[in-house]
Amino acid sequence: MNKKIVIIGAGIAGLSTGCYAQMNKFQSEIYEMHSVPGGVCTSWKRGDYLFDHCLHWVIGSNKGTTLYPIFKELGIADSIEFLYTDIFRVISANGLKMTVYTDINKFESELLRLFPEEKRGIKKYINLLKKYTEFNPPMDGDFGNFKFKDFIKLLPFMPSFMKLKKITVEEFFDSLFSNNLLKEMLYRIFPVKKLPALMAIMPLSFMHRKEAGYPLGGSLNFAQEIEKKYTDLGGKVHYNCRVKKIIVKDCCTIGIELDNGKFIPADIVISACDGRTTLFEMLEGNYLPKRIKEFYHKPQLWPPIISISLGVKRDFSGMPAIYDFKLREPIIINGKEIYWSGFFHYCHDQDFAPKGKSVLKTQIESDYFYWKELYEKDRDGYYREKERILKTYINVLEEILPGIKEDIEIADIATPVTWERYTGNWQGSYEGWLPTVDTFGVILPKKLPGLRNFYMIGQWVFPGGGVPMCMAQGKNLINQVIKEIAR
Ligand SMILES: Cc1cc2nc3c(=O)[nH]c(=O)nc-3n(C[C@H](O)[C@H](O)[C@H](O)COP(=O)(O)OP(=O)(O)OC[C@H]3O[C@@H](n4cnc5c(N)ncnc54)[C@H](O)[C@@H]3O)c2cc1C
Repeated sequence: MNKKIVIIGAGIAGLSTGCYAQMNKFQSEIYEMHSVPGGVCTSWKRGDYLFDHCLHWVIGSNKGTTLYPIFKELGIADSIEFLYTDIFRVISANGLKMTVYTDINKFESELLRLFPEEKRGIKKYINLLKKYTEFNPPMDGDFGNFKFKDFIKLLPFMPSFMKLKKITVEEFFDSLFSNNLLKEMLYRIFPVKKLPALMAIMPLSFMHRKEAGYPLGGSLNFAQEIEKKYTDLGGKVHYNCRVKKIIVKDCCTIGIELDNGKFIPADIVISACDGRTTLFEMLEGNYLPKRIKEFYHKPQLWPPIISISLGVKRDFSGMPAIYDFKLREPIIINGKEIYWSGFFHYCHDQDFAPKGKSVLKTQIESDYFYWKELYEKDRDGYYREKERILKTYINVLEEILPGIKEDIEIADIATPVTWERYTGNWQGSYEGWLPTVDTFGVILPKKLPGLRNFYMIGQWVFPGGGVPMCMAQGKNLINQVIKEIAR
């Protein structure tokens, strides 16, 4: 293919698209505003510690899944080792401790041990989890483009799938359980109650099948391995190059313009960065179909987060990686009371801290507009508020882990504004659109009406986001481009 493709953004979607472009003999280049690849799939070094707020589990990382060939083709399967644990997390509240085992049978026993009076609901829930361990949709294609043979395999799941797609996690648990503490504890596993109930089933079923592993080395390393594949294939990433505009002539994209005014010509432009910036700034709001407008006018986004990381001189190895606990006194942010906290330690990954030390991290949902206003109108207040929340969290940890204050060597806190500044994602939504009962499985148009040689890809096209989906979309998009050129 003697065509030049310019890709905007070196996140996972942009890198994957670049790899498949190179594999198919296109000439491609990626323009990335940051100095490193990965976008939200990132880690950062602080002293001896590596901080990371992204990948916990990656679907399709094990052999036998439909996604696995993509892991192979992008070099991930051979360069990254995945860890599959027996315990997903431990959740503690009101003197009870629930261990969430990745083995569904063990999880069932644990639920029955703690909440025997909820036996009926637990059985129903566990039966669904078990049923969905057999659910193996072809994840490598776009949903909605399943072939006939795929449909046949999925037929036995259709009645429950359609039902679980249409009710929320909250409605689902309300229909099964009456014990509020049980529901509260389960919401630690599936924190966004508005998600379709399928999201309370599928992740645990994937974990049971050992198909969702943690990538050792962390998120930035994951991205860098795909970047390596891309450059080995002859691709080039231009860092510190923010794209300002997509240049259109006679309803056809002819290139991009960088922040410094430089014009980069292209036969095809693919935007793999924030959707709102692409559509409303780079393309100035032109070429918007109704379907896309609806998404942007009433946005339902993954709730933004505050991310706290601590480097501590204490060894947490041997403990379950994720520990959640209910607080006696709430943490208050912008008037909102937060009753749950916890930490994730990275002792299973030697790249994160020197021997005998650990990285602890937590994420707290927090309103974007609160932080944005503080950042823009009262910068000192913004930093003071960050400091206050950090101190409050450390005090909370001190109750659970006495003496931890003294062990903290380094601390870091990022707000939704930080996520927005570093990755360009709209309103700090770290994973783009929230998949809801209305949008689960929906894919936004990758092409715009009336505009030729332009495509969009990544988490703003595919509600729900996720690294494997971004990797798979890169392959699908390049196949689509090839077909369209051949027509
Ligand atoms: C806290 C958190 C936890 C997550 N956990 C998981 C998990 O456990 N498993 C999983 O599979 N997924 C997880 N995800 C989701 C997954 O990481 C994302 O969906 C995926 O990485 C998004 O990739 P992307 O390429 O679409 O977008 P992005 O990562 O946003 O990449 C876009 C790129 O475009 C660049 N860019 C933006 N504007 C411009 C511009 N004007 N010019 C040039 N470049 C620009 C950005 O700098 C960025 O590099 C998580 C995400 C977060 C943040």
